[in-house]
Parts: sequence; structure tokens; C-alpha cells
Amino acid sequence: MESRKSAPAAHSTDELRDELALANRILVDHGILDAFGHVSARNPDDPETFLLSRNLAPGLVTAEDIQVISFDGTAHDDRPSYLERFLHAEIYRRREDVHAIAHSHSASIVPFSVSETPLRAVWHMAGFLGTAVPVFEIRDSVGSGSDLLVRDSDLGRDLASALGDQAVVLMRGHGFAVVGDSLPQVVARAVYSDLNARAQAAAMQLGGFTPLTEKEGIAAAESNNGQLRRAWEVWKQRSTT
Ligand SMILES: [Zn+2]
Repeated sequence: MESRKSAPAAHSTDELRDELALANRILVDHGILDAFGHVSARNPDDPETFLLSRNLAPGLVTAEDIQVISFDGTAHDDRPSYLERFLHAEIYRRREDVHAIAHSHSASIVPFSVSETPLRAVWHMAGFLGTAVPVFEIRDSVGSGSDLLVRDSDLGRDLASALGDQAVVLMRGHGFAVVGDSLPQVVARAVYSDLNARAQAAAMQLGGFTPLTEKEGIAAAESNNGQLRRAWEVWKQRSTT
């Protein structure tokens, strides 16, 4: 019988560095990350820190580029870090269940962050979106003159608060953040959030759309969690050939 666990756990920090470099490549392959955006993992050796690439385009990230970063945003080496590392830090601080986070500027998600139409799960592959994907409005924190980037701990805390106990939070005029219990789960959630946004927008061009009910979303997400390894293995093979 197949395990319900979403994905195999990495056994060591070194293995997790390799897995994180792979997650970067997979998300670039799917157009979720390009020159910008990032993906991180909680450090199994010190859960009050996390692993994130140094400031580098995601398509270039290798295991050697991974930094350890504390929740206050301090990197444990001298290489430059991503400006928006506070987004990861404050979500890990707030959500003990979260072990991986991705942040993307996906153009298919942005319309739902700036319009009155909420992003909804319209496809069983995105049941984890639930019935109400929250939107983080940075103007509520810093007014109307910011660059929209989550560049300090205060903004990270406000974003984490907007995420609440959900899997995804949209960031108005910016992109989205997605969380998971593992890198395979967060990569799959990032990919299917993007595809669900495209499917919902396409359905709206045709007329109305029928979102999943709350129960359908929960059931679909649970089923898919048991199958994540299938997606991870094929994406891994494609990204390394
Ligand atoms: Zn960003």
C-alpha cells in the first residue's frame, strides 16, 4: 500500500542542499521562477534556521550556493542574500508545520492579486488552494509608495499573518508565496497554483466557472499528496538530462 506521506524526507542537510538546488531547476523548467523568485527549506539540523540560495538567478543555483539563514535574516556566511529572505523567515517562524516555501512572480497569478476575482481551486490538482486564497496588500503595512518587496521582518510578519493557516497567499501586484511540508510538495503546489490560475482565467473567458467545494478540495489534496513522488521523480529526471 502506498504511503500517504507526501514525499520522502531528506536525510541530511547535505542531501537537502542537493534537493533544494534541484527544486530551483524544476521551478525554472516550469516557468514558476525565472531570474527572480526563490525556494527554501527549513534546516533539519537547526529548525530555527532555513536553507536558501545566495543572491543568484534560480536557474544557476547549485548545492554550493545554498546559505543557512536565521529568522532575523542574518546569513551564516558573507555572500549576498536575497532581499526578500524575510518572507521565508517569518513564515517559518509562524508556521511550525511548514518545511519548504517558494516565492514566485508568476504572471498567471498576478491578475488574481489585482482584481476582484478571487483565485479558487477549479481543478482537482489544486485542491490545496481551498475556497479562499488570501491576498496580502502591502499598502496596509507601508502605504502607497513602496517597491512592493518584502524587505524586512515587519513586512515578513504581515505577509505570514495574511497567509494564516493556508497553503498559498497572493501578493498584490507582485506574485505569490506557497508553503509545504517538503520540497516535493511545495514544488508541486507552486506548479499547480500557476496552472490552476491559467485554467480559471480560461474558464472565465468562456463564461462562468465552477470551483471545487471545500470538501472536494480537501479530498483531492489528500489524494494528490499520496502521489507527489511520481511528479517529483519525472521532474527530477527532466531537469537533470
Ligand atoms: Zn518577490
